[in-house]
Amino acid sequence: MPEGKIIKALAGFYYVKDGDKTIQCRGRGVFRKRKITPLVGDDVVYQYENEQEGYILEIKERKNELVRPPISNVDQAILVFSAVEPAFSTLLLDRFLVLIEANYIQAIIVISKFDLLSESEQQVIMQYKEDYEKAGYDVLTTSSVTAEGMQELKPFIGESVSVFAGQSGVGKSSLLNALDPELQLKTNDISSHLGRGKHTTRHVELIPIGEGLVADTPGFSSLDFTIDEGELSDCFPEMREKSQECKFRGCLHDKEPKCAVKEAVESGEIKQYRYDHYLEFLAEIRDRKPRY
Ligand code: GDP
Ligand code: ZN
Repeated sequence: MPEGKIIKALAGFYYVKDGDKTIQCRGRGVFRKRKITPLVGDDVVYQYENEQEGYILEIKERKNELVRPPISNVDQAILVFSAVEPAFSTLLLDRFLVLIEANYIQAIIVISKFDLLSESEQQVIMQYKEDYEKAGYDVLTTSSVTAEGMQELKPFIGESVSVFAGQSGVGKSSLLNALDPELQLKTNDISSHLGRGKHTTRHVELIPIGEGLVADTPGFSSLDFTIDEGELSDCFPEMREKSQECKFRGCLHDKEPKCAVKEAVESGEIKQYRYDHYLEFLAEIRDRKPRY
């Protein structure tokens, strides 16, 4: 039986990519009975009905599953944050990083619009780059105008399924178009498709780029944390390690004595602003109310 991956779901159809072909499939009733809804990103077994159409017979076990945006088997999230316009915000970046880490998905940080920076502004951003690299992340500076960073970004996309996330206006579409010059055209095709179903909910699609697949999403529809307070420091890679050395098991690195995380903040090993954001998120989880 042929196998492929769902790259788009629209109006009751699932578009299954199998090599260079895309087959328009329907789900069989079995899914409804078992309460499994096929998701974009699912690897499936399908059966042809004719050359372009078929049925999905089976959904393979998922490696992971995001709820918003609804997509499965995500290998990595590429977080796009512009250096300027809108201004670079470590608070918002850390929030996105926690949301991604909470899903056990690898995050890669892209700082876009680097061409718009003065030399002194570049230095500020390069310092942040170094901070986040030390914390354990890959960080790329890019420009869709000068093509800086594009060659470095390509291998990250590789053969993986990536979610491109970031606020609107940071340059996600420009980056994708720079990665694949043909894409401009495809993007237009997508929007003309969408125009037909006015009431369709936000639609998710995996776009082939080279050997990889990329979901261009408006980010997360909710930036609220669903984790418990004890899980928060696990979402900060540099604290995750340190917290093994805290005196108290279940240390929240707040008021507790003999806290290895707080000591690392004092020595400068962990950045103060990362720790401040940790405390801010901790308070938010305790209140369960977003502050902004
Ligand atoms: P998206 O909403 O994240 O998809 O952002 P867009 O790709 O639509 O870009 C938003 C605006 O920023 C557009 O006016 C782009 O021309 C501009 N832009 C995007 N990337 C860059 C960049 O690297 N350098 C400069 N100077 N402008 C950029
Ligand atoms: Zn601690």
